[in-house]
Amino acid sequence: MSKKNLFGLTLSELETELSDLPKFRAKQIAAWIYQRGAESFDEMTDLSKNLREKLSEKYFVQTARLVTQLDSSDGLTTKFLLAFSDGAAVETVLMRHDYGNSVCISTQVGCAMGCKFCASTLKGLERDLKPAEMLGEIIFVNNFLLKQNQKVDNLVIMGTGEPLMNFDNLIKFLRLLHENYTLGMSYRKITVSTCGIVPAIKKLIAEKIPVTLSISLHAPNNKLRSAIMPINSAFSIEQVIKAGDEYAEETGRRVTYEYTLLGGVNDTEEHARQLSKILSGKSANVNLIPVNPVDERNFQRPTNNSVKKFFHFLNTHGINAVIRKEFGTEINAACGQLRNKNFSID
Ligand code: SAH
Repeated sequence: MSKKNLFGLTLSELETELSDLPKFRAKQIAAWIYQRGAESFDEMTDLSKNLREKLSEKYFVQTARLVTQLDSSDGLTTKFLLAFSDGAAVETVLMRHDYGNSVCISTQVGCAMGCKFCASTLKGLERDLKPAEMLGEIIFVNNFLLKQNQKVDNLVIMGTGEPLMNFDNLIKFLRLLHENYTLGMSYRKITVSTCGIVPAIKKLIAEKIPVTLSISLHAPNNKLRSAIMPINSAFSIEQVIKAGDEYAEETGRRVTYEYTLLGGVNDTEEHARQLSKILSGKSANVNLIPVNPVDERNFQRPTNNSVKKFFHFLNTHGINAVIRKEFGTEINAACGQLRNKNFSID
């Protein structure tokens, strides 16, 4: 008989699974799995040895299997390649900010969106991640941090995949992460990044979970946006920004617009002027991200001067902009780069 993984079950699913035990056992085991970093029954020291043995005959506990770990030389970024039961692997990144530990998770294996500068989409979409697998990514890192007496403070859903194309699993995962028997994470500490799936942004509003929404804009006009982001032919800039406005209004949360600066493509003063026009007067922040060039793609890093000028133009024209601190460029922390390197034979 093959053993069953208890990781990823809700408390009531655990209670059902362990129904021949007293009910409090499910709670106790949930705490071990989701909060206390246990990856085997042996570690659950307040269960009798006999019970631990009985459990391990039928079950196991696994967040995800570590394939590769890379640490940046400044020690601030750690990138994990994590595999699930079918062997599919995704990237999960830990970034140690001065305001806390952030984890960036993937939501799909590969991606179907086809953005021209992105490594995650080079081989298309393999499959969606399940709620338990997304939870596995963050708990894996939390367990890693627990060993250093630290924990995960923030979650950014900006790894491989388009989260809003895996909507139902995403919502289940977010609700599970919010439960007090898991990390009890506040929705305000979670950022969901999307390339702009307008109907799904509306569905997210209806879920009434006040996560921060981050919209990948990357161009200030439809012609250019369509050239670098195929999704723009389904949902135009105007539609995406209108959905962002609705999100801000309904949730009271300021929307972030991500703008990856591609040298010579979208980084001139004229682009900054157009961007400040379309975002003027909105409850929005702009995150400027110098592109992390991907070998297979032909984009150049913008010059430091053009980044500074772009930033300055926005901030002197009433738009709140920041330049995203680059994390882990040397360890291929741009979406999909590590996974591609590990699977470059196929
Ligand atoms: N699909 C979602 C989330 C994953 S991508 C989205 O599009 O938002 C997360 C962010 O990283 C997006 O803004 C994406 O455009 C950006 N990105 C992807 N590849 C990049 C690269 N090589 N350099 C810089 N930013 C990149």
